[in-house]
Amino acid sequence: MKIWEQFLNCILPPRCLKCGCILPDNRGLCPRCIQEINFITAPYCQKCGHPLETLPENGSKMLCGSCLSKKRTPFRLSRSAFRYDENSKHLVLAFKFHDKTDNASLLAKMMFVAGRDIFNAGADVIIPVPLHYTRLIKRRYNQSALLGHELSRLSGLKLNCRSLVKHRRTRPQVELRGRERLENVKGAFSVKKPEEIKGKRVILIDDVLTTGTTLKECAYALKRAGAKSVDTLTVARVV
Ligand SMILES: [Zn+2]
Ligand SMILES: [Zn+2]
Repeated sequence: MKIWEQFLNCILPPRCLKCGCILPDNRGLCPRCIQEINFITAPYCQKCGHPLETLPENGSKMLCGSCLSKKRTPFRLSRSAFRYDENSKHLVLAFKFHDKTDNASLLAKMMFVAGRDIFNAGADVIIPVPLHYTRLIKRRYNQSALLGHELSRLSGLKLNCRSLVKHRRTRPQVELRGRERLENVKGAFSVKKPEEIKGKRVILIDDVLTTGTTLKECAYALKRAGAKSVDTLTVARVV
């Protein structure tokens, strides 16, 4: 096996998933590209995971303005590994649209670290944001399900890809703004087997958190089916 691996590395050396330079081993990214990624580190809101500019005063809770004002949200906790910006965009888009599915394992490892508060708080099942079956046929894989699969392996939690379904086609959210985004995905998700969701603490998985409209619609469907709590864990977020 070792010799076979060495042979493969000679003819197909592992490359950096972002810039394509040759790497000595299969670690995924070269040191320069790793350094350029803006990982979300403390201080961040303990509830929604939004990065905070300053540390809160002694004794007050580490929460962002929105969570302090108790704005209604269907999520218990939300976390993301890094900021979605010019330095990280390529990594996410290559994974989503250009069959760079090898990235799943590296991205899931980053999510596993970013999601430690969620895993510590306790969860029962991992559920990826589903694609409509017509999109799944076109794209051949659901990027969120690949991440969910890796995270299930890392955390030992069960993966459920069949209960939450997208029963209606929608336009890509990137083409839309504000209210249109909301209307686009409203009522597009449902739970097929509520008995598998009832009383469960769910971790919803997606690639990028932008406005959170899609994740919210998924959370509402899960809550209607009796989910005890819903957390979100994404690779990146727009800050
Ligand atoms: Zn690189
Ligand atoms: Zn917050």
